[in-house]
Amino acid sequence: MRKSIATVSLSGTLPEKLHAVAAAGFDGFELFENDLVACPLSPEDVRLMAADLGLRVELYQPFRDAEALPPERFADALRRAEHKFRLMTRLGADLLLVCSNVSPQAIDDDALAAEQLHTLAERAAAHGVRIAYEALAWGRHVDDYLRSWRIVRMAGHPALGVCLDSFHILSKGTDPVGIEAIPGEKIFFLQLADAPRLTMDTLQWSRHYRCFPGQGDFDLAGFTRHVLAAGYRGPLSLEVFNDVFRRADPVRTAADAMLSLRFLERDPGGGAPPDLTDFGYVELATGPDGERLRRLVEVLGVDRVRLVDGGDAAELRAVGIGTPDPAAADAHVAALSAPDHAPDGTRVVFCAPRPGESAIDHVALTAPFAEASLWCRCVLGLRPHESLELPDPYGLVRSRAMTSVNGKVMLALNMADTASNVPWQHVAVVCDDVVGMARRLTAAGEPPLRIPANYYDDLDARFPGAPDLRGTDVLYDRAGDGEFLHLYTATIGRVFFEVVQRIGGYSGYGAANTPVRLAAQHGHKMRRE
Ligand code: MG
Ligand code: MG
Repeated sequence: MRKSIATVSLSGTLPEKLHAVAAAGFDGFELFENDLVACPLSPEDVRLMAADLGLRVELYQPFRDAEALPPERFADALRRAEHKFRLMTRLGADLLLVCSNVSPQAIDDDALAAEQLHTLAERAAAHGVRIAYEALAWGRHVDDYLRSWRIVRMAGHPALGVCLDSFHILSKGTDPVGIEAIPGEKIFFLQLADAPRLTMDTLQWSRHYRCFPGQGDFDLAGFTRHVLAAGYRGPLSLEVFNDVFRRADPVRTAADAMLSLRFLERDPGGGAPPDLTDFGYVELATGPDGERLRRLVEVLGVDRVRLVDGGDAAELRAVGIGTPDPAAADAHVAALSAPDHAPDGTRVVFCAPRPGESAIDHVALTAPFAEASLWCRCVLGLRPHESLELPDPYGLVRSRAMTSVNGKVMLALNMADTASNVPWQHVAVVCDDVVGMARRLTAAGEPPLRIPANYYDDLDARFPGAPDLRGTDVLYDRAGDGEFLHLYTATIGRVFFEVVQRIGGYSGYGAANTPVRLAAQHGHKMRRE
């Protein structure tokens, strides 16, 4: 299917956006009116630039407050529309998005809306333009797709169809199954956007937090299935309003956008990423700290940590992930044209499963959140867990675990929202006696990160019957009948180790203790400076 993206989804000037859209391999774009109005290029120049880049103007948008109006207001809407139709001819665009009316003047009368949209479509058709009518979730009266479709059907004009926008439908919790009852040829356009589940005003949620399919919590694969089952054959178009993307590199955002569509299209059931068994190994560059890291790894007693000399500072380089068929896993990544490294640069290498239990419990990456979630989902087939906002003394860290189906491959994604805090990468290794390990580390001159006594007082209050860990610098968490004991080493270069002990069915990663860890790491840094 043709792939398209709205210019509003990307940062930059209109020419910068179009170059990014073309570089990512899109077939076309939705031209957002503001992008054109603010652009010094004439509509004819935009048309030429798009053609040179091999891009089609799939949609011009938005046209607002057009229907269900008192007669004098509607006359004004028609006058505005005539302007747009002429402009669209100059742009070489033939589809105009009309959003459901949000104005207090709108009249709650479907027959009137249908009659006026019929008139609008008739005028549009004279210019070779068609109208795609979209129900906004916050429309004054028309706020769901079934009602917009009823009005379009009532209007009965060949140049009038509906535009379906996944955000407006899924954000309200409306069942998308009804889409299948709309004839495919009357679905003129499909806009796809995912979003994290948030409790807030829908308009604000939509304008600031939309993201690409696979980056949020909506079921975009299921949604798209319904639209395809209805017989829709137009482009899959991404319309994403997102504060982070508005300031990010448009080339990178567009590439991510394309990855999200490739993944969605490849298998609307969610894709067929590799079966993952466990962590085969992690590879760290040592920077100037080779000797210290080797000593530390020896005390930790893990054979799956590989140290390679080089780099300006110690850091995570690669993660080997076990899978029964590494070649098929590589082919999956190649088919998606996805990068073979996580967004923070950590390379992922698929390898044959090794015998025995892996000593790597989880690996924490620091990466742009949406980008990393999408990459983990598409390339590794990891499932997202709840996204958490964790306080750091100087800002907030967003954190989310992504795990394989069997739970044995867990990546913790961490993203700071300010530059002042540094959620360092870390490698968590398994141990069956963390308290003993704390002692061995101290004896080896590598004592664990110091945890304040207040933490242990609070632990007593939170978890009756918790082991007494005072003085050990071991942290504790409990969920159901599962328990989690863990400690952190000092940070070396850009990386540190965590040692974890899981008891019972604990499946988390100790996120509740992250704020204590972050504060301790900042305190430690300050003492050294
Ligand atoms: Mg929309
Ligand atoms: Mg951890």
